[in-house]
Amino acid sequence: MASHQYQLLCLENPILDIISKKDGRALLEEYALDPNGFTMADDKHKSIYDKLLSDPNAVLTAGGAAQNTARGVQYILEPDSVVYFGCVGNDEYAEKLQEANKKVGLKVFYRVDEKEPTGRCGVVVTDHNRSLVTDLAAANCYKVEHLKEHWDVVENSKAYFVGGYHLTVCVPAVMALAEDAAKNNKPFALSLNAPFICQFFKDPLDQTAPYWDYIVGNETEAVAYAEAHSLDLKAPQEIVKHLANLPKKNTQRKRVAIITQGTEPTLVAVQGEDEVKSYPVHPIDKNKIEDTTGAGDAFAAGFFAGVAKGESLEKCVDMGQWLAALGIQEQGPGYPFPKQTY
Ligand code: ADP
Ligand code: MG
Ligand code: MG
Repeated sequence: MASHQYQLLCLENPILDIISKKDGRALLEEYALDPNGFTMADDKHKSIYDKLLSDPNAVLTAGGAAQNTARGVQYILEPDSVVYFGCVGNDEYAEKLQEANKKVGLKVFYRVDEKEPTGRCGVVVTDHNRSLVTDLAAANCYKVEHLKEHWDVVENSKAYFVGGYHLTVCVPAVMALAEDAAKNNKPFALSLNAPFICQFFKDPLDQTAPYWDYIVGNETEAVAYAEAHSLDLKAPQEIVKHLANLPKKNTQRKRVAIITQGTEPTLVAVQGEDEVKSYPVHPIDKNKIEDTTGAGDAFAAGFFAGVAKGESLEKCVDMGQWLAALGIQEQGPGYPFPKQTY
C-alpha cells in the first residue's frame, strides 16, 4: 500500500507535442488546416507527423493539458507532491514524456497500451499562429480499471484535477474521481480545455458539473459553454457567475469558477457571492513571449499549487498568472530552469 500523501492527483491525456516552423503554410494548405485551429486527426492527417519530424529543427516537448498542469504544480510544490494518470504506448515517445516529467519530479502512473502509439500533437507554426493536429492514439485507451488498480494512490491524494479533454476518453474514470471527491470532501477541479468540449461533449461535461469545486477555462470556452447551454449570456463576467452557481453535490465547499482571458483580466466568481472579482495579468514584454501554447495550463498549475498550499484566492490567481507569464517565455508548454520561485 502506498502511504505517501500527494497534494494533487491529475488525470488526462499524455501527449507529445511536435512543433515545427518548416513549410508551415504548405502544410496548412495540404491538410486544409486553420492557422489557429484545433483538429482531431483522422486517417488523412496521420502522415503530417512524419513531415513535422522530418524538420531537423522540430522541437519535441511533453504536452497534454493536464500533464502540463501537473508538471507546473510539481514545479512549485515540495518534491513528490503531484501524481499524474493517463495512457501511453510502449515506445520512445513515452520515454520522452517521462524525461520531461522526471525533470520536475512529477510522479506518473501510466497505463501502457501495447497496440497504440503514444499520443501526438502536431503543432504547425506560421508567424504567431499555431495549428494543432492531435492524434490521441494510446491516450484514448485509458481505462477506469487502471485507476481502480491504483486506488490506494487516489485515497492518498488530497485533491483531484481533471482535464476536460479526458471527457472524450474515459468518463467512468473522471466520474470515479468526482464521486470520491464529493464523498470524502476533497476538492475536485475540472478544466474546460477547449470550446469543442463544451459543444460536443456537453452531456459528459454536465454529468461532472455538480462535482466541480473548481472550474477553470478561458474566454472562448466560457462563450462556447453559454452557447451550448443556450444561455442568454454573452459577457464572460455573467458566464463565470453562472458556472459558480450551478447545482453542487458537495455543499461543504463553495464552488469557485475562474475564467482567464489571455492578456485581459482573470475573472473569479464564488458560489453565492454577488461580486465577480477581476485580476489584471502580469504584463510581459511582447518580445519575450516565445510561445503562448499552454498558457492556460500553466495558469491552472500556479493556481492549484496555491490551493494546495492553502493560499487565499487572490494569491492563487496571482500564482497562476506568475507561472503562466514564465511558461509563455519557453518554447512549448514548459517551465524555466534554473527553477524560479514565486
Ligand atoms: P489559454 O491558454 O487557455 O487560452 P489564456 O490565453 O487565457 O489561456 O492565458 C492564461 C493566462 O496566461 C492569462 O490569464 C495570463 O495570466 C497568462 N497570459 C496569457 N497570455 C499572456 C500574455 N500575452 N502576457 C501575459 N500573460 C499572459
Ligand atoms: Mg488564450
Ligand atoms: Mg487553455
